[in-house]
Formats: sequence, structure tokens, C-alpha cells
Amino acid sequence: MTFSVHSKPEYLQAYQATEADWNDWSWQLRKSFKSEEDFKKVFTLSNQEQNAFRQTQDIFNIRSTPYYAALAGKSPHDPIRKILMPHENELKDLQPSQLDPLGEKKLSNNPVERVIHRYSDRALFLVTDICSVYCRYCTRKHFTGADQAFIKQDQYEKAIDYFKKATGLREVILSGGDPLTLSDTHLDRVLTDLRKIEHIEIIRIGTRMPVVAPMRVTDNLVKIIRKAKPVFMMTHFNHPREVTHEASVSLEKLVDHGIPVMNQMVLLNGVNNHPAIVQALSRRLLYLRVKPYYMFQCDPSPGTDYLRTSIDDSLQIQRELWGHLSGLAMPTLSVDIPHGGGKTYYTPQFEISADAQSRKYVGWDGVQSEYFNPAPEQIIKPIDVEDYLPEWEALKSAKLI
Ligand code: SF4
Repeated sequence: MTFSVHSKPEYLQAYQATEADWNDWSWQLRKSFKSEEDFKKVFTLSNQEQNAFRQTQDIFNIRSTPYYAALAGKSPHDPIRKILMPHENELKDLQPSQLDPLGEKKLSNNPVERVIHRYSDRALFLVTDICSVYCRYCTRKHFTGADQAFIKQDQYEKAIDYFKKATGLREVILSGGDPLTLSDTHLDRVLTDLRKIEHIEIIRIGTRMPVVAPMRVTDNLVKIIRKAKPVFMMTHFNHPREVTHEASVSLEKLVDHGIPVMNQMVLLNGVNNHPAIVQALSRRLLYLRVKPYYMFQCDPSPGTDYLRTSIDDSLQIQRELWGHLSGLAMPTLSVDIPHGGGKTYYTPQFEISADAQSRKYVGWDGVQSEYFNPAPEQIIKPIDVEDYLPEWEALKSAKLI
């Protein structure tokens, strides 16, 4: 089941636009709503929202494609509206310590500009700071939306040079900003240059474009991405209402062209923090062959307290989902430890006791049982392990440079 873009006719009229305009992603970017006046063309703003526009615009950019704004409902409490519309509560918790919740600005994690390298085998490449929607909960408010756009030529060359020298790297994740706001020419150049580096096996593209401007997934785009395979698309759907007919067409186009798609959602207070909503999103995505991958705890970036759930709430959601969603449909609950501590994962606790011989459990539906360990002397190594040890040792000893 997909949802419709219910306010589309209203929007076409407000902009005197045609269907062809609407289905052109560059039109969606050009006509983005950026100001109170833009939003007022199609929204009746509450007093709170009007105040928020005036007070928050210097704190974090405001932007939405007409397509994404057309998904929002009339109530100020509408989930999509909460994602895209500024709120007075953003002014309440602006501690500087929250400006960089993942420690990405730490010098030790920034070997060259626009590259974040915290794990030996993978690095982030911030190819642009532009997004077509500025989500109010964004983790990277310290970087996104400053209108620096595509990385400058000298920064780009230094970044590619760094990736060549960092021979322990296996994955590069294009992020930002949203890499799919780049032109086809820019994106093709980045993917082609990375693919020429032999030790980089996997490229990931983190993007919200299939959610906020699905018409971006054109035939030419999938051709460019496919050429650089293996490339994984990491989408960012947060709510089942984002899975529209248009979004579904874009996802199926990616998958039909052999591009694996995984989804990373963020649990958000009053938006999707209920198991009924998470299951609806996960099942709709899985049906479209998109793997629900992560269910992230919202990072404490400035002005996001009102949108964050507590870890206890998130654990409760996960616990209720367990047993009702298959492993394929179940996203992993993950928390980024603040200040650069890296990711940690949660699973519900089913073990009730453990000793050397066995472990006892109570399953999700109350079944109690015991797992007996084999005798320690029976544990042997696989006969062909030597074939894989050099590769394993190289991965373990790969250093950040
Ligand atoms: S698309 Fe991603 S990077 Fe851009 S504002 Fe939203 S969460 Fe932040």
C-alpha cells in the first residue's frame, strides 16, 4: 500500500506549474520553500510556527521541496510537518557541546577537509552540504545548509588523494548534505574517481532524495550508479506516509537496476515512535525490496530535545516489534555514543542466566528454555582458515593515516 501526495493539485495551482514541472527534480529544487512567505502559499501557519520561522532561521536553514511539503497534513502536530517545519522548541537546548554530537569535527577524525575517517575500513566523504529538505532533527547541523555546495576543486583533489593513500579503506560513504542534490556530471565524476581506487570495494550513497524528491531517480542516474557498482543506496524514510507511489517507483527503479537499497530511519518523538508505525514503514519498504537496516536513536544535536525519544522508549518499541516482524523486516536499534564514541546496538534481553555449560532464556512470547554448550574440547578451527588469515590480519591492522 502506498500513500498519495494529497496536496499536489493545490501546489500545482499555487505555482501555476505543469505535471512536467512537478516531475522534474531540478524544478523541485528551484522551487523549494525556504521562507515563511513560501510556506504560507500552501500552509496555514500557527502562531507558534510563524514565531519559529522568525526566530530559528539563523540557527538552521529551512527548506522543503514542494513535493515533500505536499505530504504534510494541516495539523501543526502532523508527523511530516514536524520533520520539515521549524518549531520554537528548537531554541530551548542550544548547548555548544551538542553542536557536533558525533565528534565529527574532532581533528583526529578529519584528515582532510570534507573527509571523516573514524574507523580504519570506512570513511565519510561530505561531497556537498546542500539538502533539498532540512530535517529539523539533523545530526550534522554544524555542516549542512551553509550553501557551500559541491566541494571545491582543491579540497576534492586532496580528498581523492587521501583515499588513495589510505590503503586500509574498504568503503567510502558519500554523505553531506545530500549527494543526490549534485548534478549527474558531478556525481559521475566522484563515483568514477572512487571506483578507480583498487582497495575501495564498496561505495555507499546516503540520501533522502527518494523520500523528498523521488523524481531525482532518473534513468540516467541509475545508469551512472550502476556503472560504479557495487554501490549501496542508504535511504532515509522515517514514516509510512513517505512511501508514496512516486517514492515506490524510484525505489523499484534502483532495485531493478541491481542497486541494493537499505533504509535508515530515526525514531522521532510524536512522528514515528510507536511499533505500529515502525512495522508499517518496515513492511512497506521490504515489499519494495528495501531492507529496513537501522532504527537510529536521534542524536542530541542542538534544538532537537523535543524530537528525541528516550532510550527506554526506543527499547520498548523494539521489544514490542520482536516476534511480530521477521528478521528481514526488523531494523537494528542503534545509538551513536555522543562525542565520537561510535555506534552501539541493542537487542532485547532474553537471557536469564549463564554458566560454562549452558544459558537459559525466556523467549519473546514467554517460552523458557536452555541452550547447552558442546564440551570445550570439541571446538575446532575450520581446516581452511589459513586461506583467509592474511586478509583478516590486514583488515585488523589497517591504520587510520
Ligand atoms: S537530509 Fe540528512 S543531512 Fe540533510 S537535513 Fe535531513 S537529516 Fe540532515
